[in-house]
Amino acid sequence: MRLVILDTAAAVAEWAAKYVMKRINDFKPGPNNYFVLGLPTGSTPFGMYQKLIEYFKNGQVSFKYVKTFNMDEYVNIPREHPESYHYYMWNNFFKHIDIEPQNAHILDGNAPDLVEECNKYEEEISKAGGIELFIGGIGPDGHIAFNEPGSSLVSRTRVKTLAQDTLEANARFFGNDISKVPKQALTVGVGTVMDAKEVMILITGTHKAFALYKAIEEGVNHMWTVSAFQQHPHTLMLCDEDATLELRVKTVKYFKALSNVHHKLIEEDQPIEQFWRIH
Ligand code: PGA
Repeated sequence: MRLVILDTAAAVAEWAAKYVMKRINDFKPGPNNYFVLGLPTGSTPFGMYQKLIEYFKNGQVSFKYVKTFNMDEYVNIPREHPESYHYYMWNNFFKHIDIEPQNAHILDGNAPDLVEECNKYEEEISKAGGIELFIGGIGPDGHIAFNEPGSSLVSRTRVKTLAQDTLEANARFFGNDISKVPKQALTVGVGTVMDAKEVMILITGTHKAFALYKAIEEGVNHMWTVSAFQQHPHTLMLCDEDATLELRVKTVKYFKALSNVHHKLIEEDQPIEQFWRIH
């Protein structure tokens, strides 16, 4: 596992965007070779999307041959609802870039048969050749996507009932009225994300510090589903200083000492494949 510690949340957003751009450009996607990206919503990745839009507008990256799969979507809120993840993705990212709409996949929380919708999603990911880079955020309770505490660490895409902590965390998006937060969501499973070739997780803020500690300093535990990524061969966690507050000093020192190595990951002339092999 790599832990890249940056000063601020803005620096995390910029680093993440540069990494995504580099991975896409190094892959050299084309009509027979799509780059497949897994994407999150939420406040944490927002700055990354803004930077990616900026790089696209500068002509530094194209999404024409990129396929995306979003992590999750609420059940039973209209697509055009400002808090639906469809709305978030189209307004904050997709409509500003050159992705073909049919290549941007988001679970349909209004599908007549939700189980079938989830199974179909898994099939679509397989048909696309699997996910090259899955980007995620985490909740203060350590959830990845909507894999709430107690979720199976080998779970696949399915319907999930949200935990009280998540309802409380998300009430801010629904006029601070917890009764308005949807109680269920469709979400990729921990196993679905584990199947990606590489996983990049963004963690910022003091309210995520305890979850980061559980994610990397304690054991794999389904009560902190992000901890499953200790067992993924290519996990890259990006965090700000605030999120390190519950970590041991020696953990922080170790990863900070590697920062010059980590920064090579976003340098244009450094092939990533070689980097993962060597370190
Ligand atoms: P946030 O949500 O980025 O808005 O904090 C992350 C999550 O709950 O997965």
